[in-house]
Amino acid sequence: MSGNQDLLQRSLRSVWHPCTQMKHHEQFPLVPIARGEGAWLYDTEGKAYLDAVSSWWVNLFGHNQPDIKNAIKAQLDQLEHVMLAGFTHLPVVALSEKLAALTGLGHAFYGSDGASATEIALKMSFHYWRNLGQANKTKFISLQNSYHGETLGALSVTDVAVFKDTYAPLILQSSQMPSPDSRLAEAGESEEAFAIRCAAALETYVAAHHETLAALIIEPMVQGAAGMAMYHPIYLQRAREICHRYQVHVIADEIAVGFGRTGTMFACEQAAGQVSEIADFICLSKGITGGYLPLSVVLTTDAVYQAFYHDHTVKGFLHSHSYTGNPLACSAALATLQLFENSDVLGANQQVAQQLMAAVQGYDLPMQHLRQRGMILAFDVITTKPHFARACYAAALKQGLLLRPIGNTVYWMPPYCLDAQAIEHLVHATRAAVAESL
Ligand SMILES: *Cc1c(COP(=O)(O)O)cnc(C)c1O
Repeated sequence: MSGNQDLLQRSLRSVWHPCTQMKHHEQFPLVPIARGEGAWLYDTEGKAYLDAVSSWWVNLFGHNQPDIKNAIKAQLDQLEHVMLAGFTHLPVVALSEKLAALTGLGHAFYGSDGASATEIALKMSFHYWRNLGQANKTKFISLQNSYHGETLGALSVTDVAVFKDTYAPLILQSSQMPSPDSRLAEAGESEEAFAIRCAAALETYVAAHHETLAALIIEPMVQGAAGMAMYHPIYLQRAREICHRYQVHVIADEIAVGFGRTGTMFACEQAAGQVSEIADFICLSKGITGGYLPLSVVLTTDAVYQAFYHDHTVKGFLHSHSYTGNPLACSAALATLQLFENSDVLGANQQVAQQLMAAVQGYDLPMQHLRQRGMILAFDVITTKPHFARACYAAALKQGLLLRPIGNTVYWMPPYCLDAQAIEHLVHATRAAVAESL
């Protein structure tokens, strides 16, 4: 047995891998990764894989990025961790100040992963209304096909059947509004007209139920786990107006789309000058540390913060996680923001995005709904092949490409550091993998 085979067997015996039916690994071998460099991952035998999904949407500037790595190392020599209840430290303060300036939301509450940020935002919204004497505002609404994480609270506002249905008896009731996903527009209906029609449906629901509604939670611009469903920004504007009028919070879940992913620093900026004009809460995670360490944060308004500021302990937000505001993770996040300050990242991405789109437009594949927002590109493959996604994933690995289609949707969400060679490989290996899997 080679060293590699031994490692794979040990992993299958001891590690329960996420989002996986483990029995499928009888057919699909695990990929043992030894190191990463830029947009590439290398397995234990030296084979290279282009990381077209940014390691589950977390990586922004590539693997082994020197500035982020050095920031973590420098912080490691000072302080690895201290509890954030009763204590503070420079990395968490500096990060909170920067995020406040970027979003217009001045109070930062930290968690460790995306789902915990969703939980924090839901609890905070509910508790805000309760502190204001509106304890009947207990319900949440989200979009059809939404994804906000998989802990029980987050799952209750998630609308992806494979993740949710099994656990239905355990979770809170919430209602799902029609998704403005442009693919669902009627023939001849523009993306914008369809978004306006969906907003009208939202208005009807909110007008009837606002007395019991705490918040709308929404993935701005792109519903990632729905299969990179993209929509017109007017939906966000309308949703904001409606929720404001009826006193319902807007929670922007930018866990996947924050930090430049859709072409603007935050996706909400495509609907308004600043995040705070659209949302009462923004949830951030994934790219926040450049993909280096787990960290999440919920940013909110003075109005929300003030509603908890009180002599009574229980009017405060008593939520906590052990690693809240971890200094190493905050230092990685500060280094990541510094990279945006050092150069015109969004401008450079725009050039790359145009090249990617031009290349896919030349594909001779059965596909529809080719779409793009910044550094997310997606298309739907027309095929009746069962388990297309799995077949395409395996075919891509053979080509030295990490691709994880969602249903029949093939998407790219690569790190921002693609060079000409990486783009060439991405374009050719994807075409070959899809063609082989039809
Ligand atoms: C990934 C994701 C989450 C959950 O984050 P985890 O870190 O996986 O818990 C929530 N919302 C969106 C939009 C996501 O993409």
